[in-house]
Amino acid sequence: MVTTEVPAPLLSADLLERFRARAAGYDAANAFPQEDFDELVALGYLRAAVPVAQGGLGLGMRQIAALQSRLATAAPATALAVNMHLVWTVTASLLAARGDDSLRLVLDDAAAGEVFAFGVSEPGNDLVLFDSVTEAAPDGAGGYRYTGTKIFTSLSPVWTRLGVFGRTPSDEIAHGFLRRDDGGHESLGDWDTVGMRATQSHTTRLTGAHVPASRIVRVLPVGPSADPLVFGIFAAFETLVAAVYRGIARRALDLAVEAATARTSRRTGESTAADPVVRWRIADAAIDLDGLEPQVDTIAQELDDLVDNGPDWFPRLVGLKVRATETATRVVDRAVTVAGGSSYRADTELGRLYRDVLAGRFHPSSTDSAHATVASRWLGPVGGPAGGGPTGGGGPTGGGGPTGGGPDAEAADER
Ligand SMILES: Cc1cc2nc3c(=O)[nH]c(=O)nc-3n(C[C@H](O)[C@H](O)[C@H](O)COP(=O)(O)OP(=O)(O)OC[C@H]3O[C@@H](n4cnc5c(N)ncnc54)[C@H](O)[C@@H]3O)c2cc1C
Repeated sequence: MVTTEVPAPLLSADLLERFRARAAGYDAANAFPQEDFDELVALGYLRAAVPVAQGGLGLGMRQIAALQSRLATAAPATALAVNMHLVWTVTASLLAARGDDSLRLVLDDAAAGEVFAFGVSEPGNDLVLFDSVTEAAPDGAGGYRYTGTKIFTSLSPVWTRLGVFGRTPSDEIAHGFLRRDDGGHESLGDWDTVGMRATQSHTTRLTGAHVPASRIVRVLPVGPSADPLVFGIFAAFETLVAAVYRGIARRALDLAVEAATARTSRRTGESTAADPVVRWRIADAAIDLDGLEPQVDTIAQELDDLVDNGPDWFPRLVGLKVRATETATRVVDRAVTVAGGSSYRADTELGRLYRDVLAGRFHPSSTDSAHATVASRWLGPVGGPAGGGPTGGGGPTGGGGPTGGGPDAEAADER
């Protein structure tokens, strides 16, 4: 099996055991994993993407993805919650590596110990980054006051910086970073889900939250955008989400093997591991996982290497996310079948993974949206010129690339 290089000293085997031992308790109590979070902060984990010169660990996307997969083998919800902070800091570092310092404040703040949350999702906004149902009212000095609702705000109990955007009266989308201390927001404390419970992704209500001009990083027209910020967010988000679900799949396979070797069949008197059907199921899960491992590494490495995939970038990114989450779901499903009814108990690790892995399908890009993006790349947009596939010369607006508007806008067009 392919194994990914992991900066192991950062996440030692002992640390992972401690996290794994605590995960069931956070899940049962529907509580934020404060002890996990404190340990990660102490390790400098939240500075992973910050360049060494700015006081960070200076890790690249491939290394961070490897760490996130490793963390997710022990505590998926902790990994997913921290992912949101990493998405912003990785976005900032991806932009910086491409000569764009516009998110420098993110790296500076992260270096100073600030915690970033991802205030993107909004109720009923299936255009995601390309429109907003949050109002951004100009303050007259280049800043904005935000009023609206952000849903699923992971890290709600601990964030000190919230990446937000809203629609201005001039039909623009203003992106900025809100300081928790500046007020104008409340957390509804309403997170009570079937899985990923420790992410504590409560609804956030913005009530005129003020972001001064110095913390506004983009004002873009409503609609599809070729802006590097959009590419950066998609690249960081899709790859890191895939990394978390890869970790879940790895752990599920290990648990399936443990279960198979621990049980004996009364019918045959042999270990369950000798049962051909069980063997096939485990092999099937292993084959799936083996295929997933290099997919995450390759995309992450391409981002580190500044590879220019042009209009193929968005199809590749959304494809990775969908394959990773769907593969993880299949692997967990196989593991549960091998382990038997005990894994149906809510307090078993496999039972928890079964619930946690379900969350994968809800993160953008959804399966439908991803398919629309990839279809546009191969077929051109609906109603557009025929023959718009990657080899058919469909041009930049026919593909899912940065100049093609990105995945979710296209998905909305095709629905
Ligand atoms: C574990 C987990 C953690 C996440 N963490 C984050 C995070 O940190 N930051 C982030 O930005 N996103 C986060 N997400 C959100 C995720 O990316 C999706 O946006 C989210 O799952 C909503 O998906 P949906 O639109 O399919 O949900 P839906 O069920 O369609 O909608 C979600 C909510 O919006 C309401 N709604 C839907 N349509 C309308 C409408 N037309 N008018 C009014 N209300 C409507 C629904 O009633 C529901 O309350 C997280 C998701 C999960 C599962």
